[in-house]
Amino acid sequence: MSTTEATAAKTCRSEGCGGEPWETGRYSPNTFPESTHGYCFTCAFWADHAANPNAGTVIIEGRAPHLGRERLEFDPALPVIGPDHGMRGFSGALWRVRFRDGRETETDNLWLQGTIPDRFLDRFPVNADLELLK
Ligand SMILES: [Zn+2]
Repeated sequence: MSTTEATAAKTCRSEGCGGEPWETGRYSPNTFPESTHGYCFTCAFWADHAANPNAGTVIIEGRAPHLGRERLEFDPALPVIGPDHGMRGFSGALWRVRFRDGRETETDNLWLQGTIPDRFLDRFPVNADLELLK
């Protein structure tokens, strides 16, 4: 495959988004990996997350009906950091995360990445349920 074909296969136009490639915009060249060239900023953001899941990646459905499927994350090596740690996700709210693979943890540093665009839903299967503890 030529470079042109590889780029064409990855553009947002082929995925129905229509956005302009992020690397032609005002962003730092280090914003996303080179593998996302050809995607708009939004698609590059989600493609990068889809390519890099970890033990702290949380995908939920329906925190509220209008929010759709969301991606969140916490540091699995340090899920509870306590109030003296500065900025924490959701202002330090304590969540129980029940992963559908059987793992369960609590975290006071859960960060929301946002609602997953419809065109990326197949790359983000729901993997957990959340319970707000306090
Ligand atoms: Zn796009």
